[in-house]
Amino acid sequence: MLLEGLREQVVEVGLQALARGIVHGTAGNMSIRDPESGLIAISPSGIPYPTVTAADIVIVNDRGEIVNGNRKPSSETPLHTMTMRARSDIRAIVHTHSHYSTVVSCIRPYLPPILTETCLVAGARVPVTRYGLTGTPDFGESVLEVLTPDTKAVILKNHGLICFADSFDAALGIAEIVEESARVYINALAANGGQEPDLVPEALIPEMTERFLASYGQPKTT
Ligand SMILES: [Zn+2]
Repeated sequence: MLLEGLREQVVEVGLQALARGIVHGTAGNMSIRDPESGLIAISPSGIPYPTVTAADIVIVNDRGEIVNGNRKPSSETPLHTMTMRARSDIRAIVHTHSHYSTVVSCIRPYLPPILTETCLVAGARVPVTRYGLTGTPDFGESVLEVLTPDTKAVILKNHGLICFADSFDAALGIAEIVEESARVYINALAANGGQEPDLVPEALIPEMTERFLASYGQPKTT
C-alpha cells in the first residue's frame, strides 16, 4: 500500500482528536505530506473516525488529484493542498471543529493573547478568516489571506480551527492549546460582563518566546 506509514498516522491522529474531544462524528480532517515525493495522505470524506482504516486514506498530489486510494478524499482537500503549496515547511495539518475557537470566530477578528502558553506555542494572535465557502477553493483562499510564514493556527469563521506543524503530534498539541485559550477567553469575557479581559502584554511576547525556546525542557544529552 502506497505510503502505508503515513496512512496509519492519519488513522491514529483522527482517533486521538476524537478522544481529546476536538472533533466529533465525521467532522474535521487531517493530512500529512511525504517529504520525499511531496504526496499527501488525507482522511476520507464522511467516514466516522473509529471505522477508518489505512486502506480508506487517500493519497493525493499537491493539486488535490487522487494518486492512490479507493475512497473519495476529504471535501476540504483544497484547504489542505492550497495551504501546503503556500508553505513548504508545513508537513501535517489538523482541521477540527473545536467549540470555543468557533465561538471566537463569531465575535472577533482574532483570538487575542489570553494564555501565556498559547503565545509561546502559537504566537500572540490567532487570526480568524473571513467567511469562506466550505468545500471549495474559496475556503482555502480565506486561510491564505491571513497566513504568514509563521502562522501555526487559523480560526475558520463560523466553522472551526486549522493547525499546521511538522508532525501530527505537534499539530494536535497546537489545536488543543488554542482551543483551551479560546475557552479561557470566552469564560473571561463572560465573567467580566462582556468587557475585554486582561491580556498578555504583546510587547513581552517576543522576549518570552525566545527565553522559552532556549530554556524549556531537559538539557540535550547528545
Ligand atoms: Zn470543517
